[in-house]
Amino acid sequence: MTTQVQLFIDGEFVHSKSEKLIPVTNPATQEVIAQVPCATADEMAQAIASAKLAFQSWKETPVSERARLMMRFAVLLKEHQADIADIICRELGKTVEDAKGDVWRGIEVVEQAANIPSLMMGETVENVARSIDTYSYIQPLGVCAGITPFNFPAMIPLWMFPMAIACGNTFVLKPSEQDPMTVNRIAELFAEAGAPKGVLQVVHGGKEQVDVLLHHPDIKAISFVGSVNVGQYIYKTGTDNLKRVQAFAGAKNHMVIMPDANKQQVVNALVGASVGAAGQRCMAISVAVFVGSAAEWIPEVAAAIGKVRPGVYTDPNAAYGPQISPQARARVLSLIAKGKEEGATCLLDGSGVVVDGYPNGNWVGPTVFSNVTTDMTIYKEEIFGPVLTTMTVDSLDAAIGVVNASPYGNGTSIFTASGHAARKYQHEIEVGQVGINIPIPVPLPFFSFTGWKGSFYGDQHAYGKQAVRFYTETKTITARWFDDEVQASGPNMS
Ligand code: NAD
Repeated sequence: MTTQVQLFIDGEFVHSKSEKLIPVTNPATQEVIAQVPCATADEMAQAIASAKLAFQSWKETPVSERARLMMRFAVLLKEHQADIADIICRELGKTVEDAKGDVWRGIEVVEQAANIPSLMMGETVENVARSIDTYSYIQPLGVCAGITPFNFPAMIPLWMFPMAIACGNTFVLKPSEQDPMTVNRIAELFAEAGAPKGVLQVVHGGKEQVDVLLHHPDIKAISFVGSVNVGQYIYKTGTDNLKRVQAFAGAKNHMVIMPDANKQQVVNALVGASVGAAGQRCMAISVAVFVGSAAEWIPEVAAAIGKVRPGVYTDPNAAYGPQISPQARARVLSLIAKGKEEGATCLLDGSGVVVDGYPNGNWVGPTVFSNVTTDMTIYKEEIFGPVLTTMTVDSLDAAIGVVNASPYGNGTSIFTASGHAARKYQHEIEVGQVGINIPIPVPLPFFSFTGWKGSFYGDQHAYGKQAVRFYTETKTITARWFDDEVQASGPNMS
């Protein structure tokens, strides 16, 4: 019998009564490794009610105690980084190093959450009027919820609940049904770190369970990371229900390559940034825009990308793993076919790649297109596979024009030796995270993850100071204390 993934409600791992189960598969073999239940309406209600009750005492827990919980949690996550990574490898197929990185980037957010006392400082001004002071406090909202995607099953849940809980909120997390086991292990460690019961709840399922969170009056804020269509739905439905929402969505990230860049650095950067993690990264570089004579390097880039191969996580030579599901693979393959049909030049075609001994894996080999134009489907759609599309323009202005016309704005980078070109690019580009000779510029957690345009709906972003603003309210107090010895004057009618 396959294991059923448990729910984490009111401080206990519980077996769901749901009859609706979704298989969790090893994407390298299709072996069913667990069944994830879609939490029943009662179980959803219990999770939210327990989080609501826990909020009453958690919000009164001193900020220094909340910080210490995060310190203990970070230590446990570090101790168990390898075993969490092993779960990621089995349910998502990432390489071991990549899976460890997934956990590590989450740990960095927990370390940041341990700084919560200084992050929650308000503002003060003395003598705003004679003998009157104004000061502000930051207070938690209540029960917050998180809905996360499959591609970073450790990092993205850890973007959310540690910051929310450190701020004094309680949290209901609905991880991806495609790789739900990673979060259960993380929740177990959070409890072991001393999290009081009810502070974190983990419910499993899909749209139906998300809809409960979106409509429930006791959920005050929703954090979402996932695809564009779902992100728009979450943002519209959540705000329609008068909730605070931050929704991080899909992306199409461009790297601009100037002819004065260091060729070898460009080639090395493009290999990892385009096909690493099987292209299943919201910050992957999926479009390389070569300016002028830099276009001569395209064949060399394709040759370097052609040297990497997908494989199973137990193979130390595998550069990346499978796509998450047969459907995801079929979608990537159909987009590759569409690219050829619409006239792009396929310099490297990974459609037929197989991995010895794993005939049923969701493999897609590295793929590179040139002569891509902005009207092609492979340019317009997020492929979310190991596919690099390349295009050529004749000036930096033209490259900036292409990037700024994209509806997405998650990340971008420029490779150049010119400070002037880099400065112009960082200033004029309408994208929220910019790398200069850095292909994937994901900010560390003392900054925030600041996607723009169609890659983000909301205003306050994930982690850093913006997360504290998202998960809190500001209370501003204006105070006067009378001197008992001075006689009160008459009423002030002004
Ligand atoms: P997805 O949108 O299919 O699923 C995300 C979450 O939403 C899951 O928990 C899922 O159960 C839930 N969901 C799915 N359909 C739903 C519906 N109709 N109504 C309500 N909830 C629904 O995304 P995915 O395939 O798991 O993840 C890949 C996507 O996530 C890519 O588009 C990628 O770019 C994006 N992503 C974005 C960022 C970012 O920071 N911008 C980071 C990581 C991933």
